[in-house]
This record gives sequence, C-alpha cells and structure tokens, in this order.
Amino acid sequence: MATPGLRLVRRIAHFDLDTFFVSVERVRDPSLAGKPVLVGHPGGRGVVASASYESRAFGCRSAQPMTQALRRCPQAIVIRPHFELYRDVSRQFHAILADATPLVESVGLDEAYADLTGIEPLDTGAREAAQRVRSRVRAELSLPLSACIAGSRTTAKVGRATLTRSRKSPWKAWKRRKKRSSSGVRGETIANCQLPIANCLLSRSDGGDGGDCDPLS
Ligand SMILES: [Mg+2]
Repeated sequence: MATPGLRLVRRIAHFDLDTFFVSVERVRDPSLAGKPVLVGHPGGRGVVASASYESRAFGCRSAQPMTQALRRCPQAIVIRPHFELYRDVSRQFHAILADATPLVESVGLDEAYADLTGIEPLDTGAREAAQRVRSRVRAELSLPLSACIAGSRTTAKVGRATLTRSRKSPWKAWKRRKKRSSSGVRGETIANCQLPIANCLLSRSDGGDGGDCDPLS
C-alpha cells in the first residue's frame, strides 16, 4: 500500500509490437529473419500491410502500393497476410498486458497504453512491470516489443516512436526531433514533453533489458 500523503507520479506506458505482421510471419518461418519482407497481397492492386526494417531501408513502408514497394526493393519477399493469426496473437498480447494492470487502452492489434501508476515500489515498479510484459511477450510469443514509460500518453508514444527510429542513439534522435519541430500543436506538444521526457524510461526491443534514457549522461 502506498505511503499516506505521498503524491503519485503518473506512469503511462506505450507498448508497440515492432513490425507486427512481419514479426509474426518470422515466427511462422524463421528463415525470413534479416531479410527484406513485405506482408500484403501481391499484384497490381495489392498494398503493403507491414514492411520489415530491411525493406524500409530501400524506401518501402506500410500502406504503399505493392508495385511501388517492389520497384524500390525487387528482392523483397512478399508474404500474403494471415489476419486471423494476427488477431489471435494480438489477443494473447493484450492478455499479457491485462495481467500487468486492468488499466489498458488498446489502440490497435499491436499497440496499447497501460496506466502503471502506483505500482510499488513507486520508484521502479512501473519500469519493472513494463519489463515483465516485454519479457513475457518475448518468451511466450517470440515477438519484439518496444515500450516507453512517461508522465503522459503523448510523451510515452512519441518517446517510444523516437526510440524505435533511432536504435543507436535515442536521446540524440529526440533532440533532433525537438529541433525540427515548429510552432503550432506539434511544437507545443514537443515543448510540453521536455520535462517528462527527462524522466521517461525507455526500453529497446532489440537491446536486451533496455535501459533508462538519461539526457544528462
Ligand atoms: Mg507496431
């Protein structure tokens, strides 16, 4: 039980399964690991539903016409989607999240917010809970999961997206993003994020146990 009179700091986690459809296909067929993969229907009217990082290096992305993606990356392996399987895996992902906290808001098959406020010990409880979720997803589903904990949903989401985009130097990427932002809603959002991001906890899907993102270091 929390100490009476102690003010709780909000701890909102944003979780996102990396390149979800591609990652599920790689569980089905491990030989796809490390290769440029596009999930989507082949043919003239097909659209990319998910693109692996290897294919993104050539300019491929989700929601792109398949013909255009294959012009950019002709060697890409095209996999027809298995949506029923993705829904089933998503249900398992959300069940793991529900074990961590009942305060989960799903925002898609592969993405959710979880309110980890008040999990004891108060200084590390949220981080430990998020790491447990990542460990279970890795162990039970064999899927990479990125996570960011911050004081608000916006900060958690932006922090996680920034982390995913720059796996080597998340803090540098964050600063670059801040510099690029202009006035208006986006600029205001970034400015408001300055303080929470300093305390946000970042964990990398590809980096073992992940680690704190400390702007002072
Ligand atoms: Mg995702």
